[in-house]
Parts: sequence; C-alpha cells; structure tokens
Amino acid sequence: PSAMREVAIDVPRVSWLDIGGLEDVKLKLKQAVEWPLKHPEVFVRMGIRPPTGVLLYGPPGCSKTMIAKALASESGLNFLAVKGPELMDKYVGQSERAVREVFRKARAVAPSILFFDELDALAVERGSSSGAGNVADRVLAQLLTEMDGIEQLKDVVVLAATNRPDKIDKALMRPGRFDRIIYVPLPDAATRREIFKLQFSSKPVGLDVDVEELVCRTDTYSGAEITAVCSEAGLLALEEDIQAKFIMRRHFIEALNIVTPRIPESLRHFYA
Ligand code: ATP
Repeated sequence: PSAMREVAIDVPRVSWLDIGGLEDVKLKLKQAVEWPLKHPEVFVRMGIRPPTGVLLYGPPGCSKTMIAKALASESGLNFLAVKGPELMDKYVGQSERAVREVFRKARAVAPSILFFDELDALAVERGSSSGAGNVADRVLAQLLTEMDGIEQLKDVVVLAATNRPDKIDKALMRPGRFDRIIYVPLPDAATRREIFKLQFSSKPVGLDVDVEELVCRTDTYSGAEITAVCSEAGLLALEEDIQAKFIMRRHFIEALNIVTPRIPESLRHFYA
C-alpha cells in the first residue's frame, strides 16, 4: 500500500484558459488525447492507431504540469500523477512494483490519464546510471512492459513530461510507446503577453505599467519566472509602502532585476 501513497487520483481544476498562449500545444494535445478517447470510432474509420503515450518536453517552468492538469480537467478524465524521482526512491524491488501498481490503478479508474512528471528520473538511458543491481534498468524494463501492454489497457493515455529529453532511453520513443512528442517551448511574445494579462487580472496594476514593455524585457524568461516577476513586483510595492494600492512600473522594473532567467546556457541546446 505504501507504494501508492504518491499517487493522487482526481480531476484537477485547471482550465485551458488558465494557461496563457501555447495555442498549438493545446490543440496538438486535444488531438492526441481527447479525440481518441471521446471519438474512438473515427480512428477506427480512418484506420489509424491513436497514440499510446505523449511526451511533453521543454525547459523548466513552461507549464508542462499545468497543461497535463488542464487536459485531464477539461476532458473530464481521471488523472493520476506520479513524480519520477519519488518512484525511484524505494527499497530494492519496490520501484518496479510501484510502476506496475500505477498502471493497474490507471486501468481501474479508466478513462484516465496517467501522468509521469520528471520522466527522465525513471527512464534514463540504459547503462548510463551507476548503482548496484541497476534499479534504473529494471524500472525502465518494467515501464516498457507496461507501455507495450497498453493495447489491452483500454482508455488509458500515458502522458509524461521532462526537461531532459536527451536522457530518456530511446526504446521508450518507439511506436506504441511514447509515439507523440510535443515540444513546450519558452514563451514567445504572444504567450508572455497572455501570461502577464492573466497575472494582471488578479493584481492592482498601476496605470503607468505598459505590458508591451514587460513583454519585450522578458525575452528569455519562462512562464514560471514571469509569474515570479509579478509576485516580486507586488512585494516591492508593499515593502515601499505597506498601504500601497497599486503595483507601479518601477516595481516591475526592479523585479526584473531580481528575478532573472535561469535556464542555464548549457541546457539550451536540448530545447532548440
Ligand atoms: P517543471 O519542468 O519545472 O516541472 P513545468 O514546465 O511543469 O515546470 P509548471 O509547473 O506547469 O511548469 O509551471 C510553473 C508555473 O509557471 C505555473 O504554475 C504557472 O504559474 C506558471 N506558468 C508557466 N507557463 C504558464 C503559462 N503559459 N500560462 C500561465 N502560467 C504559466
């Protein structure tokens, strides 16, 4: 029973509208996940096999987790979320059993989405990890077995997210496994504008704040970092005057100096 503690089954309340921009990512996911579950007959008619697994990859803080939740929420599917590192953190033999268990649970609550966050912790390339008896290799083997058995898994879609697609064993990317791979990029200007607008809708923003200026100045920021800039600006306004009624331009500008983009140069080429 302890192996299941990290698995939450629920329908998260995240809407597509909570996610700024990324329109093409949203559309691709609906096509890949919602359509096959809601209209299986059209796939039969067209003679195409819906994807078994969908892998979201891209830099940290760009809403992969949020997207997974919105997908579950908007499609009304049950949602099981598992963090890769938590499954690996087990006694000998327990990690494989935990993998088996989450798939079993996903089948039991179908139609469902089984979401593996930080998949790279679970599916490192074979032989690339050290350690006795190689837990990582056995967990990967178990994952492959479960994914291959998924044709009998009616109505379960496996979704996974990673910041490090380079670390994922290539065997997982074959057809019938993670056969749709979707890139979730750093936000472009249009997406950054939407994220700022979402943030502004719950904040008293001063009249001197120009969203276009902020969009221009956050070129390499992730969505999470933009959210952090907005919170920081609010804090700065309060620090200046605990009675402050508005967050002014100067607070945002100062916040941009405090919250700086973090995606290390050394990782950028994975996402190009
Ligand atoms: P990680 O890889 O670090 O787990 P992630 O890609 O899964 O990151 P999330 O945890 O989903 O990212 O996003 C982090 C936070 O950033 C969200 O909770 C949200 O506040 C904000 N955010 C990121 N992108 C967007 C967006 N497009 N619209 C609205 N909020 C966003």
